[in-house]
Amino acid sequence: MATISELDGATLRRLSGLRPERAKVLSIYLNLDPHDFATPAARSTAITSLLDEADRRARGDGLEHAERMALREDVERAREFFAGDFSAKHAGALAVFACGPVGLFEALRLPRPVPSEVVVDDTPWVEPLVRFSRPDRVCAVLVNRRVARFLRGSRDRLEELATVEDDVHGWHDQGGWSQPRYQRGIEKEIQDHLAHASRRLFALFRRRPFDRLLVGATTELWPAFERQLHPYVAERVIARFDIDVENATPEQVREAVAPLIDEAEREREQAALERLRQGLGAGNRATAGLEPVLEALNERRVAVLLFEEGAQLQGVVCPHDGWLGVDVAECPLDGTPVERRENVVEDAVEAAVLQAADPIALEPGELAEHGRIAAVLRF
Ligand SMILES: [Zn+2]
Repeated sequence: MATISELDGATLRRLSGLRPERAKVLSIYLNLDPHDFATPAARSTAITSLLDEADRRARGDGLEHAERMALREDVERAREFFAGDFSAKHAGALAVFACGPVGLFEALRLPRPVPSEVVVDDTPWVEPLVRFSRPDRVCAVLVNRRVARFLRGSRDRLEELATVEDDVHGWHDQGGWSQPRYQRGIEKEIQDHLAHASRRLFALFRRRPFDRLLVGATTELWPAFERQLHPYVAERVIARFDIDVENATPEQVREAVAPLIDEAEREREQAALERLRQGLGAGNRATAGLEPVLEALNERRVAVLLFEEGAQLQGVVCPHDGWLGVDVAECPLDGTPVERRENVVEDAVEAAVLQAADPIALEPGELAEHGRIAAVLRF
C-alpha cells in the first residue's frame, strides 16, 4: 500500500525549497469533502478526471521533450497510486507531488478539504498547503483536583498521551472536602497535584513542542494551575474551557477546542492586519503591494506575509537564485533571463516559508486597498 504522510511544517519547507533543474513537477490535489465525494463512485469519477487533466498537461505545449517524457511517467505513477489501496481515512483532501528525475513521489494527507486541481510547474504547488501551516501543534490538558490528562495533535485530530493521577485525601468529587479542618492540608495536596501535572506538561513540551495549549479546568481551579505553569508553556495558552475532565473522549475534547482554535486563528489574522496598518501608518516595518513586497522578500526582511486567497498577480522569478520581481527581463543580481509567472504569489509564499516568515492567507477583499499582498517586516 502506498504511504501517505501527514503534512507538517518541515514537509512544507522542504517542498517549498524544491526546484528541480530541467524538469517539471506534477502536483495533484484531490478533494475528499464528504459532502461531495462520500461514495466510492463519486471519488473514482473525480480521480479519473484529475488524471485525464494531468495527462493533458503532460502533453501540453511549452514543454521540452525530456520534460514531457518525465511528466508522462509521473502521471502513470499517480495513476498507479490512485488505483492502489490507499487509505484516505480522516483526510479532507490528498496532495500528490511527483517529479521522477529527482526521485520525488510524495502523497500527503490534508486535514480539511481543498479544491481538486492539477498543476504542472517548476516547483511543487504548495499554495493550498499554506492554510494548514498555521501554528497547529495543539496540546490540550484537562485538569481537576486529582487527575490531569494530556492530549495532543491538531485542530482536526487529538490523541490521548498520558494521565497523571494523584492521591488527594479527603476530596470527594461530589461532596467537596469531608472535614473543613483538613482544608489547609488538602489544599497543599491539590497544589502538589497541580505542580505534578505542570511538570509533566513541561516534560511533554520539551520532548515535542506545541504551539497552542488549551486548558480544560474549572474557572475556580484555573488560576492555581496557571501559576504553576512554566513560562514557555504559559505563553502558549490560548483558552480555558469547561469539560468533564475524567470522562470526556478525545473526540469530545476536540469538539470543544476546535472553535477556540479557530477564534485564536482569527485573532492572529487581525493582529497581523493591525501590525500592518500601524507599520504602514508609521512608514516602517510594513509594506504593501506586489513590487515592494517582492523586494522585501528578496532582502529577507519579511516577518509575516499576508495575501488574499486566490490572488493572481503576475511577476517574474530568476531561475538561478529565486530573485522575485514584477516586470524586468533580467535578474539584477546575476543578469540571468527571468521566467514569467502568471501567478507570482505562489513563489512569494515559498520564499516566505524559506525565510521562516509566517504566511497568512486572508479572505478575498481583505487586502483590497493594499494590492492584495502585503508584509510585516523584521527591520
Ligand atoms: Zn538571479
